[in-house]
Amino acid sequence: MATRRTPPSAPLRQARRAWNLLHVDSTQARTLAARAIDAATRAHDTIAEGWAHLALGFHQLYYATAAEAALELQRARACFDAGGDRAGHLLACAGIARSMCREGRTREALAQVLPLRDEGVRVLRHEQLGVLLNTIAGCYSAQGDSAQAFAYMFEALRDAGPSSGRGFDTVLHCNLSHELLQIGDYEHALQHVDQGLARCSKLNNARLVSVLLINRVICLTELGRAAESRPDIAAILAMPADASGRGRMTAHFETLAVAALRAGQIALGAELVERANAELDAVPDERLERSIAAALLALAQGRAADAVATLQPSVADANSDGIEGLSVRMRAQFFAVQSEAHERNGDAAAALTALRHWQCLHRAQAQLASRARYQAATLQTELLRLQHRLDENDARRRSTERARAELAAINEQLSRKVVEVQALQDALREQATQDTLTGLFNRRHLNQALPTLFELARRDVQTLALAIIDLDHFKDINDKHGHATGDRLLAAFGQMLAEQGRRSDVACRYGGEEFCLLMPRTDAHGARRKVQTLLRRWRAQAFDVGGVMLQGLSFSAGVADTTLALASPDALLKAADDQLLAAKREGRNRVGVVMREAPSAMSR
Ligand code: GH3
Ligand code: MG
Ligand code: MG
Repeated sequence: MATRRTPPSAPLRQARRAWNLLHVDSTQARTLAARAIDAATRAHDTIAEGWAHLALGFHQLYYATAAEAALELQRARACFDAGGDRAGHLLACAGIARSMCREGRTREALAQVLPLRDEGVRVLRHEQLGVLLNTIAGCYSAQGDSAQAFAYMFEALRDAGPSSGRGFDTVLHCNLSHELLQIGDYEHALQHVDQGLARCSKLNNARLVSVLLINRVICLTELGRAAESRPDIAAILAMPADASGRGRMTAHFETLAVAALRAGQIALGAELVERANAELDAVPDERLERSIAAALLALAQGRAADAVATLQPSVADANSDGIEGLSVRMRAQFFAVQSEAHERNGDAAAALTALRHWQCLHRAQAQLASRARYQAATLQTELLRLQHRLDENDARRRSTERARAELAAINEQLSRKVVEVQALQDALREQATQDTLTGLFNRRHLNQALPTLFELARRDVQTLALAIIDLDHFKDINDKHGHATGDRLLAAFGQMLAEQGRRSDVACRYGGEEFCLLMPRTDAHGARRKVQTLLRRWRAQAFDVGGVMLQGLSFSAGVADTTLALASPDALLKAADDQLLAAKREGRNRVGVVMREAPSAMSR
């Protein structure tokens, strides 16, 4: 059955446009989303409201605080749940999980978003599926599970490529570069950054540009090309910290500080260290990087002992495997700088220990990289299998739908046929001229035959006689012996009429226990004789009714012919009927006849 989709309402179109513009033109997306919220609320259009809140919520994930985004996304989810929009629900949940991630609640976020994956693969397409998979990736990434993160991002990029991604592919290039940084593949990471930035030149999304630039700064720093990052640092710092620029998100001052110091910009480095420390909140990676930046500043200023001291409080953290949000890359960087500090401080042994730690982490990073490649392949197979199962289910559902449609078509044909057959039967019944009980003609036939025979007789100057016969006291027979016996007698009487008549005679059951006999080329005398013979025969018949013999039955009849009732068939019928009534009146068991000589005569 084909269901016709109702076209989306105006607020819904507006809200979806806001969503579609999210990564393409963040400013316009925000404006449209805000307008769509107004329009949808006024129109009580719950689904449109959901999409509008969703678009705004996702915008805020990039440009506002996590708490603000979460609030908006929870509104979206409530609308989707009220309106029954699963795709919207899944995306709102993904956004909420993303906001949790940003607050450092990565395990909780993953627990919320991972169970949505299979339904997501079924319900979402293109950038929407990309958003969900990327959220899962983000959770893994924040937990330092680069292997899983990398795999999900790779998958997301397959669903949200440049042609169908509505700019979301840029986000994925950005996140992929971040993840490649985590596994120490800086060259590859740089490629993704450059791809992302090339795409961004056609978009209006300052926040994305800022994150890509930060990733390029990291790449260049890790590759020992920090000096090349100077323009990027300047560009990031020039961006306003609102929705027109990098948003109200941290500018990663500590990262920029490390790069500036490595690039030999000590004054800028000092300023950035200060700005980083002025930021209140910091995730574990940021905290560790702040101490790295401070140590590098001390080293740059020739204060090696200070550098060692600055790093000291963070050693335990850097050594720990179990800190949520602390990356292997940052820990490795920490020990590299610590080794440098110890060396400059003249402590070769401590420098060596730090170097060994660095080596260990470097190895872990390499293992992470190879695991990530394996994991990506495994996940791809898993998701492909899932997709395959979905396709199969879909095909099965479609074939059952087809079977159901065929069945419905057959049923419809069948009921059409039944209606046709019924109509046909009705028509046939209409046209039937035979009485089923007696086998004689019925009254309908009489009505057709009488005028014809009447006309024929007049034309041929022949006489047509008509007799109406009514069985006597028939009600008593029914009453005494039952209706079935009555029927049996009627059938027997019919058979007698049929057998006794001439071939040209027309014998009809006039109705009930009344019969009519049309006798062409016969006058009233002849007809009377004939009916009298019938009366005698009827009286002589005996019927065995359950051992009781039923006999001496009689009838009364009226006879007329066209010589006396010339006017019309009705007049002929009326004349015979009058005679029948007279016969009944005079005691039944007799034949009344209209005679030429006398007005009427009665004979038994
Ligand atoms: P009368 O001598 O005055 O004609 O008496 P009657 O009982 O024959 O006449 P009445 O008109 O009072 O009753 C006719 C009866 O014929 C009543 C009805 O039940 C019976 N009858 C009519 N058609 C049928 C039929 O098809 N089968 C049976 N068994 N009885 C029928
Ligand atoms: Mg009667
Ligand atoms: Mg009768």
